[in-house]
Amino acid sequence: MKDTDLYQHVLGLREPWSVCKVELDIKAQRVDVWVEHPKDLKWPCPECDVEGALYDHAEERVWRHLDTCQFQTLLHARPPRVNCPEHGVRQVRLPWAEPHARFSLLFERFAIIVLQQTTIQAATQILGISWDEAWHIVQCAVERGLQRKPQRIVPQIGVDEKSAGWGQNYVTVICNLETATVEEVTEGSSRQSLATYFEGLTPEQLAGIEAVAMDMSAAYINAVGEKVPDGQNKIVFDRFHIMRLMAEAVDKVRKQENRTLAANGSPLLAGSRFIWLYARENLPSKYWEQFYRLRACDLKTGRAWAIKENLRNLWRYRNLTWAERFWKRWYYWATHSRLQPVKKAAKTFKAHLYGIMSYFKHRLTNATTEGINSQIETLWKAACGFRNKKRFRTIILFHLGGLDLYPATH
Ligand SMILES: [Zn+2]
Repeated sequence: MKDTDLYQHVLGLREPWSVCKVELDIKAQRVDVWVEHPKDLKWPCPECDVEGALYDHAEERVWRHLDTCQFQTLLHARPPRVNCPEHGVRQVRLPWAEPHARFSLLFERFAIIVLQQTTIQAATQILGISWDEAWHIVQCAVERGLQRKPQRIVPQIGVDEKSAGWGQNYVTVICNLETATVEEVTEGSSRQSLATYFEGLTPEQLAGIEAVAMDMSAAYINAVGEKVPDGQNKIVFDRFHIMRLMAEAVDKVRKQENRTLAANGSPLLAGSRFIWLYARENLPSKYWEQFYRLRACDLKTGRAWAIKENLRNLWRYRNLTWAERFWKRWYYWATHSRLQPVKKAAKTFKAHLYGIMSYFKHRLTNATTEGINSQIETLWKAACGFRNKKRFRTIILFHLGGLDLYPATH
């Protein structure tokens, strides 16, 4: 078998293309392959598919293809051009690459698989491409995926703000809770940040929204109220955010009490911060001894902690009536605790009770939002922060968008 025939097979080239020359550079570990086509062929116009005679050839171009036995493999060709009566002189479509791409379709496909498994930095090493080239592949893949994405109704939406950089830099992440994928990422965490997403939906999509899980931020509440039909009744404040607020209240009680104790010379609460923030069953064993010792003391922090842990039972109820009974008892306990931060949190919950109790109507799972949240944090850390929010959006959609990213192979 001649080397040209071998590469014809390796590259999977089909009629009318054939390999005419192969150059192997052992030192540079690289193979250059030139391909050509027979003369007197008719070519379809890329716009209308009407066939015409060859007009001329464009300049020679090079595409990076999949490596062959650790040799970087480069494909050379002069793309034919046709003169379509309707569209003028156009370059024809090539079977191995998308227009303007520097990589062959198979290489791009492989690169996307690698990029999905690792960081951009690591992928550049594995693939032997630059950071900009890798980023370009990611960006094109996301654009391709978004273009192909069908307009569907997302009945259960999760909304969360995410820190994107330093200071007051936030993005709003909108998830599909049923598929556990990210629908959109918008700039900021204002009313408009969420309204922008709703404004991009059709009336059918808006009407199809059944529930929106989120934190108690007035900005998001207003956006849902304004943009989603019957929005107020579809809001669910999820357990994750409510318990976070409750944990913050416990932490405030601890801080105050620690200050008072320390002033009287007692270090009892020093270094105990995280003990009180864990859910009871998640407390790491290294804290157990200290925890039991502290629980035996009559501490305000211990009482605040017990109120926090008790609130978690709310989401265990199967029906609204029993949940409401539980809530009333809990609320009485919290507001009579003489612990200011706990009282304040309880009153915040009461003011938002409609969206807390709506959980029993919509039954959203909290696991999805929490899972996506931690994946976004991993992406953020792996990239050591993104230079801008547009890039953060792109990388989130690349990994979590559930998009069809691969170029179509012919
Ligand atoms: Zn045409």
